[in-house]
Amino acid sequence: MYFPESDIIVREHQDLQRVATLVDERLSEVFSTAPLRPSDFAYLIGSDANQVASVFDLLAKKGVLQRTEMVECVRCETLMPSTAFHQAVEDEDDFECSHCGRVFSKLSTPITVYRMTARAASRPKPKAPEVDRPATSGEEPLGDRAQLVLIAMLDLGAIDSDTRRSTEEIAVKALGPGADANSLKAVISDLSTRHLIETKQGRTGGCWLSKIGQSRAMKLGDR
Ligand SMILES: [Zn+2]
Repeated sequence: MYFPESDIIVREHQDLQRVATLVDERLSEVFSTAPLRPSDFAYLIGSDANQVASVFDLLAKKGVLQRTEMVECVRCETLMPSTAFHQAVEDEDDFECSHCGRVFSKLSTPITVYRMTARAASRPKPKAPEVDRPATSGEEPLGDRAQLVLIAMLDLGAIDSDTRRSTEEIAVKALGPGADANSLKAVISDLSTRHLIETKQGRTGGCWLSKIGQSRAMKLGDR
């Protein structure tokens, strides 16, 4: 185990052993306090979201993660503190997304996300993996959703304009049945800005992986 706290969790909760081990492995690569969503995380490691949430809760008790209630913008997925949201609802004020300005519905339900605590995020970074994986050095890190999208596009065989896929198809492949394509808009546009994917607008439009996007997706799929 990477985090000593994970060893303790596994000893105390043997039913969570497998998930805790996978979570530990994945968290060992996280060095930021960016929000972690149990459902996305579960998909990445191929585990049950409730079990991931249980492990996250245990890690939160041990000071590796912290729990926060947030409300999520339906348009761009920006997370905003739910305390500020509730205050605005109470004051009968509009509560706007800090990123895209969309007004939140008063009925928005807060979601629980986790962040690495400042202490855990500022732990010393291991140097060794850089040497082991020279091909990935110099690449900008990708968020969980961006990784899922790239892998999904590779799985769907979207590798050129002729094999392009709609964002709806990609969303379902990346996030599971019922996934909302709009929720990936920000991710798609970010991947496009980074030239990892190409997009064609319009009714028959779609996305496909660029050459770099393709090799990046293959590397992600290997892990
Ligand atoms: Zn927004």
